[in-house]
Amino acid sequence: MPRPIQATIHTQALAHNLNAARRHAPDARVWAVVKANAYGHGIERVFDGLRAADGFALLDLAEAQRVRALGWRGPVLLLEGVFELRDLELCSRLDLWHTVHCEAQIDMLAAHKTNVPQRVFLKLNTGMNRLGFAPGQYRSAWTRLNALPQVDEISHMTHFSDADGPPGVAHQMALFDATTRDLPGERTVSNSAALLRHDSALLASDWVRPGIAVYGSAPDFPAHSAAHWGLQPTMTLEAKIIAVQHLQPGDRVGYGSRFCAEAPMRIGVVACGYADGYPRICPTGTPVLVDGQPSRTLGRVSMDMLSVDLSALPEAGHGSTVTLWGRAHNGAVLPIDTVAAQAGTLAYELLCALAPRVPVVTEA
Ligand SMILES: *Cc1c(COP(=O)(O)O)cnc(C)c1O
Repeated sequence: MPRPIQATIHTQALAHNLNAARRHAPDARVWAVVKANAYGHGIERVFDGLRAADGFALLDLAEAQRVRALGWRGPVLLLEGVFELRDLELCSRLDLWHTVHCEAQIDMLAAHKTNVPQRVFLKLNTGMNRLGFAPGQYRSAWTRLNALPQVDEISHMTHFSDADGPPGVAHQMALFDATTRDLPGERTVSNSAALLRHDSALLASDWVRPGIAVYGSAPDFPAHSAAHWGLQPTMTLEAKIIAVQHLQPGDRVGYGSRFCAEAPMRIGVVACGYADGYPRICPTGTPVLVDGQPSRTLGRVSMDMLSVDLSALPEAGHGSTVTLWGRAHNGAVLPIDTVAAQAGTLAYELLCALAPRVPVVTEA
């Protein structure tokens, strides 16, 4: 029998969250961002839940191929564009739209032999200083692209660095507007945080690009929770208790003896560790659900196991199901954002780090 650990992908929740995201920009079309193997969920596993998207955005050409292999004929956008000249052949063959963020990519397009012009998204660097042309170079890049027979429609794109926090998006949006104002073409600016937190009327977008919200996490946790935004968990990680220990005062738990019992107590040893993608750094007290009831971790997380407190749960024992994040069988929810915060990181990282050894099932 395989180890009693499992991740479940919730198809309905994906559809629900996509719809919730769409309601924040009712006039825009929605790219479902499925980079990083759909934020660790698996592109093939989320496809059904995200069918109502207007397009799929990602950055790995092999992942774009997988989206096409699923039968998707609608738009697919490469968020980082191409990396080398021959990638453009794949763009032609699979009809991929692609971002152009630097001169080298324009050079590649100019050298690309094709009779079918490609649709591109020209990226403006409005202050994040990751990808994109500086405002002073944007128009010459546009002019150069516009003159190429290899290029069809040119759309405009930027990415916000602070949509989830106090600096906000106004400064970057003003720069984007000023730079692109009199150029023709569609526009796309918003990630999840911009979409949920900021007025869509001010972020005029033909396309929005939600990622993390679609996967049921609040982009601005802890300021707001997923429940606040009406988002549902799309991934549950659960494992069973494979051993029970009875501790006396002074007994310790796990590597480094990090937890010490102050009173007699029962603990459960769970078949989930950091080699499954559960963060080792989560301290004693990280929330879990045991048979749907709130409890906490105890001591260090080890490679294949972690321990949980059963003192308040007399019914729980060997074989009980422990929800590490997501939805328990009784409907109780443990937001992945809560666990991520205990680890000093974001749900993005936990979702993407689900280990390949964890069996994954998809649930309607
Ligand atoms: C990842 C990404 C997104 C989605 O971001 P979320 O914060 O997950 O909504 C949108 N646009 C670009 C360019 C991205 O790289």
